[in-house]
Amino acid sequence: MTLEHCDLLIVGAGPAGMAAAVAAAPSGASIVVIDDNPAPGGQIWRDGPGATLPPAARKWRDALERHANIRVCSGTRVVAAPSRNELLLEDAERGWCMRWNKLILCTGARELLLPFPGWTVPGVTGAGGLQALVKAGLPVEGERIVIAGSGPLLLAAAATARTAGAKVVRIAEQASFAAVAGFAASLPRWPGKAVQAITLAHAQYRTSSRIVSVQGGTQVESVRLRQGPREVEIACDRVACGFGLVPNTQLGQMLGCALTTGGTGVQALAVDARQATSLPDVYAAGECTGFGGSERALAQGAIAGLAAIGNEHAAKQHERERARWDAFAAQLHRSFALASANKHMPQPDTLVCRCEDVPFSALAGCSGWTDAKLHRRCGMGACQGRVCGDAAQFLFGWSPPTPRPPLSPARIATLAGLAGPGDVDRQ
Ligand SMILES: Cc1cc2nc3c(=O)[nH]c(=O)nc-3n(C[C@H](O)[C@H](O)[C@H](O)COP(=O)(O)OP(=O)(O)OC[C@H]3O[C@@H](n4cnc5c(N)ncnc54)[C@H](O)[C@@H]3O)c2cc1C
Repeated sequence: MTLEHCDLLIVGAGPAGMAAAVAAAPSGASIVVIDDNPAPGGQIWRDGPGATLPPAARKWRDALERHANIRVCSGTRVVAAPSRNELLLEDAERGWCMRWNKLILCTGARELLLPFPGWTVPGVTGAGGLQALVKAGLPVEGERIVIAGSGPLLLAAAATARTAGAKVVRIAEQASFAAVAGFAASLPRWPGKAVQAITLAHAQYRTSSRIVSVQGGTQVESVRLRQGPREVEIACDRVACGFGLVPNTQLGQMLGCALTTGGTGVQALAVDARQATSLPDVYAAGECTGFGGSERALAQGAIAGLAAIGNEHAAKQHERERARWDAFAAQLHRSFALASANKHMPQPDTLVCRCEDVPFSALAGCSGWTDAKLHRRCGMGACQGRVCGDAAQFLFGWSPPTPRPPLSPARIATLAGLAGPGDVDRQ
């Protein structure tokens, strides 16, 4: 197996990873950015046949291309960490090892999906999941869509669906009117966000509104929502639900990086003022350190990139910007904290692990994640607990164990590269 080497390896080409690479590039260091998506941009600037990239996304992509010492490997996943400063990677063609002097983790976040009756009916997706599908070319023109859950991502998903010709018939936000109004009132501190909020405003947005169930057989037919004291049923073709974001900490955990909940109750990679993790030469930036939006990810990425090449002075110049967006993140967490009523959405027969068909009632008596896995097969299926693990953490407070390799499904030939250094070609 081939062994390559770089000065700086960045995992994730979202806003954080792109900013880190561009900040570090003037040093002349050899920089490799890997990402499992087909093109740089991360979640917010996801590309595809149905996507229109905003100018900011183009600006960052152009900046990556301008630097001859940045190599972007798209469609590339991390499979394992065979030694202290080496990652086993795989793309569509090959598997190979990449040895690094410095590593920056910019692995972003994923949606929190929570189970409720009918969440497995075809046509129910995540809110960000719907965005990704539309950007990938899913036709939704003329469809009636209900978007439910929590946070500003609901409005972003609604905007994407509307632009693609769908009719968004309801946006159901679980947070209270007071919480959302407080958030809106705080936005003038971040004028760009205030403008964004105005452009995303939607007449069908309702607060204190929670999903009860989705009805349908082979396709969504309607959704039942609890709005304050009453229930309403809305006919629709599609339901998109997102209950906030969960930082992607798995790679960092596998390497041994410490975690923190930072007072939010959500586990994220712990970093210091230089974005350094608890491991030497390993930094982290963006939403793997806690969710807070693309501006925070860009500021953190720049600091991590500069700190990784030893330019502490320049890194400090970005601290004020980061603090500004840390405050925005804190406001987001306060305003859109999930109410405990969301824990009561699943009924006894509601599947929590949809890969292995494990209902809520089968998990209620388990003592923790390992018990649920060993005795109920929860998390043993194709997604390996990526969906139900987060749900179980919210519903039961179970902490998932440290991930083990392979981090993602991999070809046998790639896994054979873990056998030992004897069969590595050095380049
Ligand atoms: C589904 C979804 C949709 C979103 N849509 C919006 C939106 O419309 N507007 C908005 O303001 N915010 C949106 N967000 C929030 C958004 O994620 C952030 O604001 C911003 O993109 C965070 O930047 P980041 O660089 O930290 O992470 P991301 O943008 O998430 O980038 C992380 C990148 O790392 C890659 N990656 C992760 N692990 C690995 C691995 N092991 N190997 C290889 N690659 C890996 C991912 O594929 C991804 O491309 C969305 C979030 C999610 C989860």
